[in-house]
Amino acid sequence: MSLATLRKRIGAAIADPRLIAAVQGATRKKVGQRLEGMKVLRDGEALRDLAADVKRHTLDHLPEYLEQFTGNVRRLGGEVHFAADAAAARTVIQQIARQHDASLCVKAKSMTTEEVHLNGALEDIGVEVWETDLGEFIVQLDKDRPSHIITPIIHKTRQQVAETMARELGCELTDDPQALTDIARRFLRDKFRRADLGVVGVNFAIAENGAFCLVTNEGNARMCMSRPRTLIALMGIEKVIPRMRDLSVLLKLVARATTGQPLGIYTSLIHGPRRADDPDGPENLHIVLLDNGRSGIWASEFREVLACIRCGACLNACPVYQNIGGHAYDSVYPGPIGSLVTPLLAGMRHGSELARASSLCGACRDACPVKIDIPNLLVKVRAANVQRQSLAKRIGMRFWRWAMLMPPAYGLGQRGLAWLARWRGRPSERGDRRWLTQLGPNNPWMLQRDLPVPNDGSFRQRWARLRWDAGDRGGHA
Ligand code: SF4
Repeated sequence: MSLATLRKRIGAAIADPRLIAAVQGATRKKVGQRLEGMKVLRDGEALRDLAADVKRHTLDHLPEYLEQFTGNVRRLGGEVHFAADAAAARTVIQQIARQHDASLCVKAKSMTTEEVHLNGALEDIGVEVWETDLGEFIVQLDKDRPSHIITPIIHKTRQQVAETMARELGCELTDDPQALTDIARRFLRDKFRRADLGVVGVNFAIAENGAFCLVTNEGNARMCMSRPRTLIALMGIEKVIPRMRDLSVLLKLVARATTGQPLGIYTSLIHGPRRADDPDGPENLHIVLLDNGRSGIWASEFREVLACIRCGACLNACPVYQNIGGHAYDSVYPGPIGSLVTPLLAGMRHGSELARASSLCGACRDACPVKIDIPNLLVKVRAANVQRQSLAKRIGMRFWRWAMLMPPAYGLGQRGLAWLARWRGRPSERGDRRWLTQLGPNNPWMLQRDLPVPNDGSFRQRWARLRWDAGDRGGHA
């Protein structure tokens, strides 16, 4: 996305008061809930440090833990597939669906499936697909896109949800949340009952025993995993953690960071396909491990980004996200972490401008349960973006750097700028002190900033004059 497009999208978002009211109300409430939830922990900071250590240790040994995890999944009777990119993930999942003659798929909320655009791929081979998370279900009915990684319809008001459901399901128009939930539940129950394929994401995959964990608040993921005969879990390769005891650390934080809850209401662990004496569960279990740019991130200076546990706290805390919502980012992953993940997964040509959509205030870093230094990484993306820019800009930046490190050159530049300001500014004649805009009338950076016209030379000139007047004609100040 170009900077001009990003600006246009932000402008459109800001101009929609209903959107901004919905996003601000929800995000600010969630920030309050997170702070309250963290307060009751005996030592929340130590727990965050421990969680950060778990994720960083895992990333440092990622190949070993992935091998251990896949070995254990196979030992339990599951099948493991590797997908190098989104297209490969779609193909392998289509193959699995065909292999099991699937015709109706129920899906739990999963940003990874959004990332690979899975729904369309399944529909292309004749599989009916239903999102079963309530927010995702509304998004699907409305032919919209999620605007938050945890709260997909954060941008919608209750009235909008009511209108969508009445229009698409032919039900009565009501904005009573209980009534709306009941309507959705009745509709989806039938889909759960008839589904022959379940697709879920993965919150954490445990290397030592081959289990994987899902955290939800609606119980729909549990239905997706227990009812259909075939289950596909699509997970990014970074979701693996070493041991069950590491899971307990991360579970204490993930829901708390999202909504302030001590634990997600439904925390499910799947440990292989159904065994003979199990009351329910999938007969066929397929785990698809997705790379799609992650190994490139892993090998780069941005490895820390892969520690993300997708709690959404940084989105809620971000003053930019609060004021523009998620669609302005035009990415599956919006907000501060999305501004990193998007260009890193898709390549710097796609979305590196998003790194500018940050004031670098640090609210995201303070909110992050695994202490990812998002502002620092955003600055690195900005720096990498500069490297891609035009030769003229790069030469200009190099010249600037050289001048800043050379006092005589800096002084010369300062005198030149002061001369230019006095020449172009001349407030008494123009009645306009925004002289920078005269140099680039169409440059928005200059429209919002100005450099005061110096009245009496630079600081260095005035300092030299003072010293001279004080009789210091050669000694040190
Ligand atoms: S970067 Fe941190 S705060 Fe943001 S979604 Fe990931 S884990 Fe949560």
